[in-house]
Order: sequence, then C-alpha cells, then structure tokens
Amino acid sequence: MIERTLSIIKPDGVSRNLIGAVVTRLEQEGLKIVAMKMIRMSKEEAKGFYKVHEGKPFYESVTDFMSSGPCVVMILEGDDGIQRYRKLMGATNYKEAEEGTIRRNFATDIEKNVVHGSDSVENADYEINYFFNALEIAGR
Ligand code: GDP
Repeated sequence: MIERTLSIIKPDGVSRNLIGAVVTRLEQEGLKIVAMKMIRMSKEEAKGFYKVHEGKPFYESVTDFMSSGPCVVMILEGDDGIQRYRKLMGATNYKEAEEGTIRRNFATDIEKNVVHGSDSVENADYEINYFFNALEIAGR
C-alpha cells in the first residue's frame, strides 16, 4: 500500500552537514520526497510534536534538543513507506541499530540520532498535518 510518512533531519543532522547524505539514502531507497522545508521549532512546538512522550524522563531534554536549531522536515511517499523508512533509520539507540542504517552510520547519542520517522499511519497523519498544509505538498 502506498503510504506517506513524516521525516525530520534533526538539529544534529543539519548542523553536522548531513542533509545531503540523508536525502541521498532516502532517494536510493526509492522513497519519494513529496514535500520538504527547513524550520526552527520553538520549545512549545517541539513539545506539541512529541506530546506522546509527555511525562517520560527524556521529554524535557528531547524537546530542548529539537528546538535547539533548524530541522529539515519532509513528507516521504512509497509502497509500505512507513515501515521501509523506519527500517532505513534503524533503532532509536544507534548502538542497537542494524549495520548500514542511517542512525548506525551517523548518530552519536540515543537522543542525537539524526532522523525522525513516523511509526504508524495514525502518527504519520498527525505529524504531516503538524508541519504541512495542503499547498506545500507537491504530490508527484
Ligand atoms: P524513535 O521513534 O525511534 O525516534 O524513538 P521514540 O519515539 O521512542 O523517542 C523519540 C526521540 O526521543 C528519540 O528519537 C530520541 O531522540 C529521544 N529519546 C528516546 N529515548 C531516549 C532516552 O532514553 N534518552 C534520551 N535522552 N532521549 C531519548
């Protein structure tokens, strides 16, 4: 089934000049980028984005991190897109991520793990609408 998913190149990925490397991996995997922009989240916007994690010990820290600098947000589209992109990213903790995944190759920390990807159809829908309006989604 063709699915859309939300991808973020997090502030560590942008500041370490990894935008091109990440985009190359997405395109090599055959995922289509149907929307893309650079944004800078406020602390409140980062809290809204990660509201599913409210109350967890890392909530303050991860929302500080996500609002610490610019991010690149993208909508990716492809057959089984949500799971294919999750597999390409690798496990949250880069030390447990499979060889060849983006996090295994580039992450430096459990928090500073370079990329985000939606984990379900429901969350993809919420996250896409959190960042993009209809005019910004090209479709292709
Ligand atoms: P993801 O779906 O693989 O990104 O993982 P989660 O939804 O569980 O966590 C969201 C984000 O919070 C992760 O990508 C990390 O940036 C951060 N995070 C997750 N677990 C931890 C943790 O134990 N400590 C810290 N500091 N950050 C974490």
